[in-house]
Amino acid sequence: MVCWVGLTGGIGSGKSQAAAEFVRLGVPVIDADAVSRSLTADSGAALPEIRKALGNQLFDAEGRLKRAALRDMVFRRPQAKQILENIMHPLILAEIRQRQSVVGQVYGVVDIPLLIERPVFFGLTERILVVDVSETTQVGRVYSRSGLETEEIKRIMASQARRRDRLLAADDVLSNEGTLAELAGKVRRLHHYYLALFSCFTGANP
Ligand code: ADP
Repeated sequence: MVCWVGLTGGIGSGKSQAAAEFVRLGVPVIDADAVSRSLTADSGAALPEIRKALGNQLFDAEGRLKRAALRDMVFRRPQAKQILENIMHPLILAEIRQRQSVVGQVYGVVDIPLLIERPVFFGLTERILVVDVSETTQVGRVYSRSGLETEEIKRIMASQARRRDRLLAADDVLSNEGTLAELAGKVRRLHHYYLALFSCFTGANP
């Protein structure tokens, strides 16, 4: 049995950076956003249901999903957002479960940015690891990465779980206020901790 850690955190907290460190250490990492994108890519498994539930106008002549039109619809109509999530969540869950059937590892990581907001995904992991930074650091890092206006960044942050709620749900917290090298060091320590912890769990030799 392979155990799974749910990696989460707000926008700009450093999840992708932490996930890349786990990959460098040889840990299998499943990216839930990539799973979601693959389901809505050309010929993706979610497209027939999305077309049926939300309409042909979201598709071009070649049958490709018009992502901007879908984003706009979901932004304007909360009901459409709910319909979309009802289609996507079971498919994402099934695809992640499929990808979790790796063997020969003590543990793996599932990177789920909106894990705290979507309890439907809690059953996928044994433990929750929250990457945490102050809101000021969050805004600064997203600004440097994307050039988005501060107001827009704050609007996205307001649509996500509150820092307090994320920390309450966490089994482990990775504070990412330091340098990238410090983050890498913390991930290495966590890696050794998880190897020991999950070996006890499963009886594997780390
Ligand atoms: P998330 O995936 O949580 O949105 P990222 O991992 O993309 O966040 O990090 C956001 C930005 O901040 C990226 O440009 C990343 O390189 C940078 N970053 C992350 N951690 C650190 C750090 N400890 N020091 C400096 N920059 C960082």
